[in-house]
Amino acid sequence: MRILVVEDEPDAGRYLAKGLRQHAYAVDTAEDGGSAAYKAGINTYDLVILDVMLPDADGFAVCRELRAAGHQMPILMLTARGDVTDRVEGLNSGADDYLTKPFEFSELIARMKALLRRQPQLVDPVIRLADLVVDTHHRRVTRGGKPIALTTREYALLEYLASRRGAVTGRAEISEHVWDETYDPASNLIDVYIQRLRQKLDYGYGVRLLHTRRGEGYQLALEDSIYA
Ligand code: CA
Repeated sequence: MRILVVEDEPDAGRYLAKGLRQHAYAVDTAEDGGSAAYKAGINTYDLVILDVMLPDADGFAVCRELRAAGHQMPILMLTARGDVTDRVEGLNSGADDYLTKPFEFSELIARMKALLRRQPQLVDPVIRLADLVVDTHHRRVTRGGKPIALTTREYALLEYLASRRGAVTGRAEISEHVWDETYDPASNLIDVYIQRLRQKLDYGYGVRLLHTRRGEGYQLALEDSIYA
């Protein structure tokens, strides 16, 4: 899942980005409303964390601008102020939820997960495919009941493919949702990660779940459910 963090205070922005990356999110950052709108226009985000106090425009205006431009991803607003007027204005401007600073990082993650689950394919925090179980709440993966140890990025890739199980997902889409602005489209990074994931996920099991569809992308599916 790729997240845009809009926050002008460098320390707060870095803190958020670091914590989110540790939770397997790909993170882009913007320091003002203008660059937030620009980045949302050229990239695909699964969620936006938007600070209310920004140098060029307040977060409410940025939120309205994003909605007016047709962006439908969940928007979680952050503010130092906790009064009801702000909360109402936040929701009226098109935000989905609201968190008052200072907050516990675990609460931010919990709110984000709740917002991301509203998307139809992620209603259940536990994704199952044959004997593969991806627990998105605890970020634990098992196959045939045996735990599979994944790096943060391997997990992010698997979770994204698992959330779209059965569908063929192209490389561009994978890079948009799993990698952030540090991703180099010319690299073979996705192939490398797919190979590692396949080794951990499929090696030693009778049934392959991770498939390469030449020219199209990758698919997590039971063989007989291909293109179903
Ligand atoms: Ca701020």
